[in-house]
Amino acid sequence: MKKHEIFKMKNRQLIALALIAISFSCNSKQKDTETATIVADSASDHFDKKGKLPSSFTIAKWEELKNTLPFEDKRDFDEAKKGFIAKQNFTQIKNEQGKVVWDIGKYDFLLEGKDYNSIHPSLQRIAVLNMNFGLYEVIPGIYQVRGFDLTNFTFIKGKTGWIIFDPGTTSETAAAALKFINEKLGERKVLAVVYSHTHADHFGGVRGLVDEADVKSGKVKIIAPDGFMENAITENVYAGTAMSRRVQYMYSARLPSNIYAQVDQGIGKAIPQGTVGLIEPNVIITKDIEPLTVDGVKMVFQNTPHTEAPSEMNTYFPDMKAFWAAENIQATVHNILTWRGALVRDPMEWYKKINEAIFLFGGDVQVMFASHNWPRWGNERVLEVMKDQRDVYANLNNGVLNLANKGVTINQVHNIYKVPESLDKKWHARSYHGSAANNARAVIQRYLGYWDSNPATLFPLEQGEAAKLYVDMMGGASKILTKGQEFYGEGKYLHAIEIVNKLVYAEPENSKAKDLLADCFEQIGYQTEGSSARNCYLSAAFELRNGITDEQMARSTSPDVIRSMTTEMYLDLMGIKVNSAKANGMNFKINIVVPDKKEKFAVEMRNATLTNMKGFLNPKADLTLTMNHSDIVRCKNL
Ligand SMILES: [Zn+2]
Repeated sequence: MKKHEIFKMKNRQLIALALIAISFSCNSKQKDTETATIVADSASDHFDKKGKLPSSFTIAKWEELKNTLPFEDKRDFDEAKKGFIAKQNFTQIKNEQGKVVWDIGKYDFLLEGKDYNSIHPSLQRIAVLNMNFGLYEVIPGIYQVRGFDLTNFTFIKGKTGWIIFDPGTTSETAAAALKFINEKLGERKVLAVVYSHTHADHFGGVRGLVDEADVKSGKVKIIAPDGFMENAITENVYAGTAMSRRVQYMYSARLPSNIYAQVDQGIGKAIPQGTVGLIEPNVIITKDIEPLTVDGVKMVFQNTPHTEAPSEMNTYFPDMKAFWAAENIQATVHNILTWRGALVRDPMEWYKKINEAIFLFGGDVQVMFASHNWPRWGNERVLEVMKDQRDVYANLNNGVLNLANKGVTINQVHNIYKVPESLDKKWHARSYHGSAANNARAVIQRYLGYWDSNPATLFPLEQGEAAKLYVDMMGGASKILTKGQEFYGEGKYLHAIEIVNKLVYAEPENSKAKDLLADCFEQIGYQTEGSSARNCYLSAAFELRNGITDEQMARSTSPDVIRSMTTEMYLDLMGIKVNSAKANGMNFKINIVVPDKKEKFAVEMRNATLTNMKGFLNPKADLTLTMNHSDIVRCKNL
């Protein structure tokens, strides 16, 4: 067997973990009073030499939004600043080699008290709110370090040490947050870490907080929801390479942070570029509702599987009447289907788990805090946000299915589904990380799939071939460019995209077509409220204008996550890595015996497909391999 012909095993092509996900946080010098309007008047202001300023149509839309959105409700600004204790005297966090892994200072343009018409006014609002950074007291005994990572670092004061809720994305940012709070509030040992869910920004920084040996000895507890390890790995690994590419769009990894590019992610500023690790938890919360006391702190965990993540849990602190909403409730509506790609989520289950929290804890609760954004105080306000977010997800599920049952398809629903007006006026029910249009399509995908029931769209012509046909039928490239320019000049960007996109597919080297398509994407990006969608449009514009360099391609990452894979996950991944066309005609059976895990597997290559069966051996194997799991995970080329 020539393995190298079957498996593409190059490290960099491997497992590109889309260590990613999610959402936002912030204090300081921003003015929430009157602001100056900035209308840039020179294309030289743009970071990209081909970049365009907001068009008159984009500006008109921006002005209308400024006048119609509920800017008079400034409660978020008070809440985002409440409890401020101290601000760090640095804006950058570096790794051991001196590389900057986090830089909140690059967003200083958001603190100048100016309004930018290249940013949707609602998006700029949350982008400014997420600039409240430093150390905050949620209530006595609960503290948050915000603006050190995409994720908040939350510290619960026990009798003798810290219990940390969510270790952030990278060990560098986590270590900096721990150092900062210990400097300000006094040195305390970390006794426990809670992973609220399976996304990398909620476990990746753990090695900056604790030593693995202390976890193994039981000295430090790592507490996680049921199914954590399996879901943390599988959600990111099997489609990881594709996910890593897509995450660069969603988080605009190739763009600078400025008024024409990336400004926020809704749940926080950005993903830090440091070291992502993972230590296996030693306490798993398996019951739906499970109490646990650590270092004198009483906690009641509420497992919320199949909500924002496949494994996730909220926590209530009954003695403090404080509710930790994990990533189930933020200052933004989240994704039912994330732009980076993942299994589609369940808005029905999501709303029911929020509802369960309302009925379990809502009578007492006095403060709600979470892994992104800022807390809410007072029973009435907490319940207002909890109930509105419950209703957002419930309405998405019910409202979209109501439309679907009336015949609305996945290719129509984004133009038809509307968030109820009463919710649309609430800042915390708007979509800065997710998008109502994308979520509406996701609900149909979840229940009915991608197909709109029209056989014409079931198995369409190959994309490039179809594009050539359209271009030919429309009279060729110059006619399309002329009409596309006309649409662009009228502010009809979607119309222009409809035809120019075909030309780009038919003629990938046509730079005029690519530039015009980029110009259209850019204006829509400026007009878009959701950060993820804005980033996708602006990243695509940048790529059309500048191409993709090798350095910008996705990289494999996180040896910790790879080491945490089970033998079965490795074999499943091998099955995915098989080049089926090259494996055609191959037939073999391999038995794999794994002594250190007491496992055995029957592996078979047949019909150009590699399958595995745990717990069994092939009666007549061509080969038996005996190797420890600890050796498999050291295999550099796997
Ligand atoms: Zn998150």
